[in-house]
Amino acid sequence: FEQLSTTDPEIADVVLGELDRLRGGLQLIASENLTSPAVLAALGSTLTNKYAEGYPGRRYYGGCAQVDRAEELGIARARQLFGAEHANLQPHSGASANLAAYAALVQPGDTVLAMELPHGGHLTHGSRVNFSGRWFDTVGYTVRRDTELIDYDEVRDLARTRRPKMIICGATAYPRLIDFARFREIADEVGAYLMVDAAHFIGLVAGQAIPSPVPYADVVCATTHKVLRGPRGGIILCRESLAERIDKAVFPFTQGGPLMHAVAAKAVALREAAQPEYRTYAAQVVANAQALADGLAAEGMRPVSGGTDTHLALVDLRETGVTGAQAEARCDAATITLNKNAIPYDPQKPMVASGIRFGTPSITTQGLGEPQMRQVAELIARAVRTDPAAPGGTDELARVASDVAELVAEFPAYAR
Ligand code: PLP
Repeated sequence: FEQLSTTDPEIADVVLGELDRLRGGLQLIASENLTSPAVLAALGSTLTNKYAEGYPGRRYYGGCAQVDRAEELGIARARQLFGAEHANLQPHSGASANLAAYAALVQPGDTVLAMELPHGGHLTHGSRVNFSGRWFDTVGYTVRRDTELIDYDEVRDLARTRRPKMIICGATAYPRLIDFARFREIADEVGAYLMVDAAHFIGLVAGQAIPSPVPYADVVCATTHKVLRGPRGGIILCRESLAERIDKAVFPFTQGGPLMHAVAAKAVALREAAQPEYRTYAAQVVANAQALADGLAAEGMRPVSGGTDTHLALVDLRETGVTGAQAEARCDAATITLNKNAIPYDPQKPMVASGIRFGTPSITTQGLGEPQMRQVAELIARAVRTDPAAPGGTDELARVASDVAELVAEFPAYAR
């Protein structure tokens, strides 16, 4: 870091500023986490220099002996941890992993059945502003109005009538378990591939906190930087019969040289995820999310679908009269970082939204547990209910921020 401060004091200041932000507040973005110093060390290593187009033992560049070892270790660890026949660690991100899965399994113009974005699906599941919606005939399934759970009957009916080539399950904002066996059954009935986008929950699968999609899916795509606590990046798991198609879809079809520092950091994270402590962490992530959802429910903020089975929850704020956008801004002012989120059948526009989404990976990594979740719920509720434009509003938000600082001081992120 001293080198950075000398060479580029401005960027050094950004890095320190971000560290202060992480240390001083509550990080509740469901897709974020705090990587270990070991992961950061691999990311900040000289492996970033190496060009290594191709795969271990089959590179288009010389000098790949060391990076081959990193990638081989990573692949072996991923296969072992997830019980997968094949793993590809090269996707630069979750969206890149999904792009490669489309490239491997379907042709432009083919029909793909996936979850609607406003119901929890991701942009890569058929949004018109994304390649998936532009190049494919995408059909969306929803959650039921009454239960706010995936409507499996609708999925089956749409599959029967639209005959998709690929069905995607896995979401960005769905707090409940997904019935992978049911999706497999539907995919088999219509002869479709099943792609599970486990970007959000692969880290819970690694820690055995929720069931694995691997036995059911043709292809599992995921990110490595969410609950899994690795570097930003993607990973694809698949059956051996699809291995070659997936590898070719990643390189050379959709990517060039892999980011070998990131591949090495993924290997480190996968090793960490195989340790017994990681299982305890994964279980705690879920227990914390449930406790925080209960805490917010007690504050009059309804968790969508009544709660959560995972690391995240969606909270319907309509009873409070505060929009998701207002809640996000108020929490931000109180150093509580979370995001506004559409709830199913949301009457508001996406940039306003009626809900917020929170996740517990970061605070669990920091060591907060169920006893603290009640406090966190109270802090969120105080911030959400405080209008900064009302008399005393900014003072109250500052008081919440100071209570947040007091709480997190006991659980330092990246302790000095
Ligand atoms: N798929 C799902 C379900 C996601 O939630 C996300 C990101 O949040 C992605 C894919 C894309 O991952 P990335 O941002 O790494 O491209």
